[in-house]
Amino acid sequence: MTIQPGITIIGGGLAGCEAAWQAASRGISVTLFDMKPHSFSPAHSTPDLAELVCSNSFRSDDCSSAVGLLKEEMRTLHSLIMSAAAETKVPAGKALAVDRHRFARFITEKMESHPAITVSRREITEIPAASVDHPLTILATGPLTSDPMAKSLQHITGEHLAFYDAIAPIVSADSLDRDIIYQASRYDDGPGDYLNCPLGETEYKNFIKELAAADKVPLKSFEKQKYFEGCLPIEVMLERGEDTLRFGPMKPVGLPDPRTGRDPYAVIQLRKENIAASHYNMVGFQTKLTYSEQKRIFRMIPGMEQAEFERLGSIHRNTFVCGPEVLLASLQLKKRQDILLAGQITGVEGYVESTAMGLLAGINGARLLQDKKIIIPPEITAFGALVRHLTETEPKRFQPSNINFGLFPPIKTKEGKKIPKRMRGTIRAERALEALQSWKRDLDEK
Ligand SMILES: Cc1cc2nc3c(=O)[nH]c(=O)nc-3n(C[C@H](O)[C@H](O)[C@H](O)COP(=O)(O)OP(=O)(O)OC[C@H]3O[C@@H](n4cnc5c(N)ncnc54)[C@H](O)[C@@H]3O)c2cc1C
Repeated sequence: MTIQPGITIIGGGLAGCEAAWQAASRGISVTLFDMKPHSFSPAHSTPDLAELVCSNSFRSDDCSSAVGLLKEEMRTLHSLIMSAAAETKVPAGKALAVDRHRFARFITEKMESHPAITVSRREITEIPAASVDHPLTILATGPLTSDPMAKSLQHITGEHLAFYDAIAPIVSADSLDRDIIYQASRYDDGPGDYLNCPLGETEYKNFIKELAAADKVPLKSFEKQKYFEGCLPIEVMLERGEDTLRFGPMKPVGLPDPRTGRDPYAVIQLRKENIAASHYNMVGFQTKLTYSEQKRIFRMIPGMEQAEFERLGSIHRNTFVCGPEVLLASLQLKKRQDILLAGQITGVEGYVESTAMGLLAGINGARLLQDKKIIIPPEITAFGALVRHLTETEPKRFQPSNINFGLFPPIKTKEGKKIPKRMRGTIRAERALEALQSWKRDLDEK
C-alpha cells in the first residue's frame, strides 16, 4: 500500500487510537501525539495509550441494546478497540469487560508497530495550522483536555465549548402512567408540549426528604464544586431551602391539573426527546445521585412508578463542544474544515461512543485526503443516531449523550404498525446492521 501524507492526531486515548488505525488502514500516514507520560490529566496515570480511566467495562454486549448494537457496528468496520477488547476480555456476564492493562498494552503496541503511524509523546498546546505534510488534524484530547489546548479550541468555537456536562434523566414514554401525568405547557390553553407529573404537599415533602438523604456520587478531587447557576444539581438546589425546587424546576404555576382544575403543589415536567415522543427528558433534573438512588427516588414521582430510564442523570467535568453549533456531520469544525473532532470532546459520552466517534473521524479524515465523498451513516444505525444527536439537536438543549434508543428514529412494522416492546431492540439491530452493511459497501466503492 502506498502511504499518503498525512493526518496529525492529538490525543492517544480510545478515540485517537481508533482514528489513527482507521486512517492508517486506508493508506494515510498518521502522526499521533499524546502528552503521557510527561504530563497526565487528573484521571490518567499509566504511560500506555487508550487508558481506561475508570470502569473496565464496555457495557452490554447484547446486540438488542443500543450500546451492544454500536459495538457490533464497530466490529463491522474493523474497529481496533473492539479487537483489543476481544483479545483481552474478562468474564463479565452479558457485558464486555477487559483486563485494562493488557488492553492498553495491545493498542499501544499496534500504534507503535504500524508502518504508517508515528507515535510522539508530547503535549500539543495549540491546534496546528494546516500544512502540506499534515493537511488535516484530528483533535481527540478527551473530556479532560489540557488547559492550553482547550483555550486554543475555544479560539475557534467561541462560547460553544463547555467544561462541565449536566445531564438529566430520560424516560421511555411507554412506561409513564398517563392516568396521572397530564399534557400542558405553562399558561397555555392549547394541548401543550410537556407532560406534567403532579405532586401534592405530602408527596413533595416525602420526595425532598428522600432526596436530601439519598446517596450521591462523590466528587473526584479535580471536580471542584463549581456549577453553573443554570444547571445546578437538584440536590444542591434543595440544600438552599425546602421550597427552592418548587420555585425552580418543580414550579407548578400555570399548569393546572385537569383532574382538579388547580395548580398542583409541585410539578415535574417532561419534555419530548424526539419528534416521535418515544422518550422524555426530566426538565432541570441534572443530579449527582447514584444511579440506584435515582431509580428509587424518581419512581416515587406520581405517574413514574414504573418508569424505565433510557439514561440517568449526571454531572461531570467534561470538555465538549456544542456540536449542533460547530460541527458538520463529517465531524469537521464548520469554521476550520481542516480540523475534525473525535471522541468525547464531540459531545458523546462513554468509552464506546467516544471510540465510535474516533472511528468515524478516522474514516472521514482519510476520505477527505483521498478526495472521496463523505458519506454519513444511515440514521437508523447507532453511528447515524449519534451523529444526528451531535449535529441536529436544538443547540440550546444540547448535552452529551450515551447511545440509547431515544436517539433513534421510531420504528414500525413494514405495515406501519407498532412493534411490541420486547421485540424492538432485536428488530432495530437487524435493520441497523443491514443498513450499515450497505453503507460500508458504498464506502468501499465510492
Ligand atoms: C474521570 C472519568 C471517568 C470516566 N469513566 C467512564 C467509565 O467508567 N465508562 C465510560 O464508558 N466512560 C467513562 N468516562 C467517559 C469517557 O468515555 C472516557 O473519558 C473516554 O476515555 C473518552 O475517550 P477519548 O478518546 O475521547 O478521551 P481519552 O480516552 O481521555 O483520551 C484523551 C487523550 O488525550 C491526551 N491529551 C489530552 N490533552 C492533550 C494535549 N494537549 N496534547 C497531547 N495529548 C493530550 C490524554 O493524555 C489522553 O491520553 C469517564 C470520564 C472521566 C473524565
